[in-house]
Formats: sequence, C-alpha cells, structure tokens
Amino acid sequence: MRLSQFHLATVKEVPADAEISSHQLMLRAGMIRKLASGLYTWAPLGLRVLRKVEAAVREEMVRAGAIEVLMPSVQPRELWEETGRWEKFGGQLLKIQDRKEQEFCYGPTHEEVITDFARNELKSYKQLPLNFFQIQTKFRDEIRPRFGVMRAREFLMKDAYSFHLTPESLGETYKVMYDAYSRIFTRLGLEFRAVDADTGAIGGSASHEFQVLADSGEDHIAFSDASPYAANIEKAEALAPTTERPAPSAALQRVDTPTQRTIAEVSAFLGVPATQTVKTILVRGAEGLVALCLRGDHEINEVKVSHLAELGDEPELASEEQILAATGTRPGFIGPVGLPDNIPVIVDRSAAVLADFVCGGNQDGTHYTGANWDRDARVTRVEDIRKVVDGDASPDGKGTLRLARGIEVGHIFQLGQKYAEAMGAGVLDDQGKMRTMFMGCYGVGVSRIVAAAIEQRHDDAGMIWPDAMAPWRVAVCIINPKNDVAVAEAADSLYQELTQAGIDTVLDDRGLRPGPMFADMELIGIPHRVVVSGRGLEAGTFEYRARTDAEARNVTREELLAMLK
Ligand code: ATP
Ligand code: MG
Ligand code: MG
Ligand code: MG
Repeated sequence: MRLSQFHLATVKEVPADAEISSHQLMLRAGMIRKLASGLYTWAPLGLRVLRKVEAAVREEMVRAGAIEVLMPSVQPRELWEETGRWEKFGGQLLKIQDRKEQEFCYGPTHEEVITDFARNELKSYKQLPLNFFQIQTKFRDEIRPRFGVMRAREFLMKDAYSFHLTPESLGETYKVMYDAYSRIFTRLGLEFRAVDADTGAIGGSASHEFQVLADSGEDHIAFSDASPYAANIEKAEALAPTTERPAPSAALQRVDTPTQRTIAEVSAFLGVPATQTVKTILVRGAEGLVALCLRGDHEINEVKVSHLAELGDEPELASEEQILAATGTRPGFIGPVGLPDNIPVIVDRSAAVLADFVCGGNQDGTHYTGANWDRDARVTRVEDIRKVVDGDASPDGKGTLRLARGIEVGHIFQLGQKYAEAMGAGVLDDQGKMRTMFMGCYGVGVSRIVAAAIEQRHDDAGMIWPDAMAPWRVAVCIINPKNDVAVAEAADSLYQELTQAGIDTVLDDRGLRPGPMFADMELIGIPHRVVVSGRGLEAGTFEYRARTDAEARNVTREELLAMLK
C-alpha cells in the first residue's frame, strides 16, 4: 500500500472523552470513528487490524475442525420464546418490529438460531459431532457502552456451536476449542490467561474465560503463584470458604483502586441527565452490601438495586419497602449529592454482592463525601467486601492467590442439553431412538481483541502491534527533501520487493518531514520501520528500527530481507 493513496487520518490531541489508552490511541490513529453511543465505524486503518484478527480466528477455527456458516443478525421473537429468553435476556436484547408488526430482535448471540438450524438439519448420530462457527455482527444494548470498541453495542464476534450425542463427545470438542483459543491468543502475541468461570445462569458443566491481562480490565481474575489454578473472581469466591473479614470502617476512606468515571458516564449509567441530583445509597443488608442509586430529587420512591446476579444486566427498580424486605435494612442515603459536570465520580463493581456503586466525590475525586449516614451504611473499598483477596491461600491448596485484572476476549461453555431440550433438537441413535443433543458454545470478541491488544501493548508514542495484528508489518519511509529521483526509486523498489516476498508493507510516500512521519508510524504501531535516504543509499544501507528498539541501525538490503522474512 502506498500511503499517499490511503486514507490515514491521525491527530495529535488526546480526545477528551476517551479515558483508557486503547480508546484514545484508536481515535488518535484514526482507526475508529464514533457514530453514536456504542456504535463505531471502522476506518480503513482500523479495519486492516480487525481483518487480521478475524483471519487468525477463522484459520484456527478451521484448523480445529469447525465449519463456517453465516446466520442472520435479525431473529424472530418466536425462537426466543421457545427458550424463554425473549423475556429473560433482559435489557441488552434490542427488540424491533417489522412493518407487519411482527417482532424480532437484533441478535446478541445465536444459540436459538443455530439450534433451530441443527434440529432441521441433523437427523442421525452418524452426522455428529459437528461444530459450526460464524464471524458476525452482534448487538447488545449495553447499559454502559464504553471504552470505544471494548464495550460497544454493535461489535464483531466469532461464535461457534457444537453438537454431540454424548457428554463425552462434548468434552472432547470443548478441549479442542480450549486449545484453539490458546493458539489464537498466543499467535496474536497477547499475554492472557484461561480462567475457570462460573456456568451461572446459562447452566452447563464447564466454562472458561480467556482474559487478556491489563490493569484497565473490567474483570478480576485470581490465580495461584504455585499451580495452574486460575479462575475469574466470581468462581474463586464461589469456592472460597467464607472467612469473616473485619467490617469496613464507617469512616470515609480513600479509594485507590476503583476506576474513576466522569459524571457523564455515571449519568448515562443511571439514565438521568448529568445536571440532575443523584443520591446514592449503600446498604449493608442480609445478603451483604447492596448499592442503591436513587434518581429524582427528594422522594425515596424509585431506587435502582444492583445485585451480583445481575452483573452486567439492567439494575431492577425497587421501592424502599421492597429493599427493606429484601435486605432487612431500611435504605439510608448519602446526599443528596449535587454533582456538577467536571467532578470525577468513583464507580466500580465488586464481585461480592455489590455490582455497582456510585458515589459523589469531592474536588479531587479521591474521597467519598457523605452526610446523613444510616447506622448500617458503609462506604467501603471494593477489596473489603471481597470474599477472596490477594494473598489468600489458593483454593487448590497450592501456593498463594494473586489477583489481577483482565479483559474478557473469549468464553467457552459446555451448555449440555439446555437449548436442545427446550427446542427439541435431537437425532436418532444406533438403536433408532431419538436422543436430545448435547451442545457447546464458544465466543471470541473479535473487535474487542483489537482494543485489548492496544491496552496491553503501547507506550507514550503509540501502539506496539505484534506482527500478526499490525495494519502493516513494515513501513518504508522516504526521506527525500531534494526530490532526488534515485531515493524515490530505491524506496519504491524496496517496497515492491518486500511486497512480492509476501511481506505486508506500506510505503510512506506522503512527502512528510521525518519528525511527523516517524511520529505517525510509531503512533500506528508499525513493528518494523525502514528509512530510505540519500545518505543511506551512498553507504549502501537502509536504516532499520523495530518499534520496540531504542536505537535505529544501518543494515544492507540482504540483511533487511533476511530479518523480515
Ligand atoms: P462481558 O462480560 O464483557 O460483558 P460477556 O460475558 O457478556 O462479556 P459473552 O456472552 O461471553 O460476553 O460473549 C463472547 C465474547 O464477546 C466475550 O468474551 C467478549 O470478548 C465479546 N463481547 C461481549 N460483549 C461485548 C461488547 N459489548 N463489546 C465488544 N465485545 C463484546
Ligand atoms: Mg456482557
Ligand atoms: Mg463476561
Ligand atoms: Mg462471557
């Protein structure tokens, strides 16, 4: 690709509304552009990266024996009624109507559609096992779309679904997919962990999440420093013995770890305008700590309750009496706290019982402010209400538990017969008897991987792509202030030679000065930079620098080709 014929639109300014590095860098590099909340256009540069991830995922799926299909993104209500998920899926399901007032949803996932396909398509145990996958756009009406494509509403997912006669066969394919996922993230150059995950509401017998390690990650994971034990925090807590931890102090505490959110995000979460007064209530109830966010001004009549069970789902609205009944505690409240626009607000979620809590911050945003405390109310650090903390003994008895943050980029599940049974998907066995199939499902957040990789790999100058994900592996930069024909031709011929050797190369022929040109190449994270200049040509060398090298060095054409092959 000749950059003069491409659309590269980098900017220097850090975008004001992007908080985490990956989101800032993707906007600065011109990889994505926001259309509306949680909806992004993939600009040409971003799409090159997205397509590389997609290709790697597709290749590993095919290698693992999965077969590609493509299902509609719009799905009829009737299918979702069969599994009961039309109601149960909650607020993330975007429901739409056609002109005949028939109801549909925009698919957040495809268990129903693939199970329908399988029940029509598969007749005999001889056809099994089968594993179908697609790479396709999903829509989830997330409560808080944020961090750009990291948590978008429309996003690209690879989802696979396997069908089996027996649970043993499901277990085998599950293992194959586990290995395929490990290969995908390894080849994409990511530092990740596969963690044991709770099967939770979906049911089934086994589940693993693939978490890219990053401090900005929304998920908490726990792993042993002396054994292969690794689990997400929910699973680790489910197994942990309930040790009584000292009650958090009622005094206002400094909160170091929770991420700070702007008032705009908090108001988006609460669904109230930023200027409106927000009251926050923390209650220690029978089930532990519950966060209640009050909307409106003075009347405590409508409260949002976030429970662990609804992590990620829409909080329920409950009356004060309902809260009293559910928690054994009458809600007290901090505030009312009038929140002006520019004050950071602390929001985080914990894995204990608390899903989300929202507090008004003082000027520097590090302390909670509060008044009118209920006797039982506590402001507490997220760590204090966890059942497991860094330094606990590992649940497998081997070593010490370490906590880290992760970004969920993949999730595999043994679903068992849940969907097949609800939808009547069966095959005939060798006795001619109808048997309900066993299913597995396997998701990869293709678009999220792009953001997660940047989150994990960047420096002050920009992104640092691993070769496998880079928009181009090599940039050939022309330094040619005097418009010397020999320099231009040498650069062009090197570009063509690399390209013909199958090396994905971009020629920076935009005629920029070295400073801005190099800054762009670093910002967009090209792994290998080659500079062609008059001086170099005289010496018979090119200047080479890997994105992670401290210094550039001079190499001959042969050395360069050998290095980049
Ligand atoms: P999360 O916990 O982050 O909300 P999830 O558990 O709801 O994700 P799954 O249903 O397991 O997601 O979907 C499979 C994969 O799709 C996830 O592992 C993640 O990588 C990706 N994904 C899910 N939601 C989003 C989103 N809103 N934006 C981008 N990618 C997403
Ligand atoms: Mg989710
Ligand atoms: Mg999840
Ligand atoms: Mg998941």
